[in-house]
Amino acid sequence: MSDPAASPTNRRKFLFACTAAAAAPLAARSAFAQSKEKVDENSPQAKALNYRHDAKQVKDPKRKPDQFCNNCQLYQAKASDAWGPCALFAGNLVAAKGWCNAWVKKA
Ligand code: SF4
Repeated sequence: MSDPAASPTNRRKFLFACTAAAAAPLAARSAFAQSKEKVDENSPQAKALNYRHDAKQVKDPKRKPDQFCNNCQLYQAKASDAWGPCALFAGNLVAAKGWCNAWVKKA
């Protein structure tokens, strides 16, 4: 088994990987801190995606009863958080119990 710190190049790569791993939660927290406004359901983007804060209000044949933002791959908060950033609505928060027609099952 090789020691990751055995050569200067490997040591640099190892330290870079450690730094990146340590910084990832901070970056996610920063993105959350910048996303403070709730999505406006009447915005053109929200309307185009059929987004609603309350998924049960959605009248879209694509939606299945168990689909919500907090179990979508694009939801960027803990499933237990009531609101969180979404990759599609940069700078805004979507509701954990919301939905839009871009929903993708969380891996
Ligand atoms: Fe919610 Fe996913 Fe649509 Fe974003 S992409 S609004 S998390 S259902």
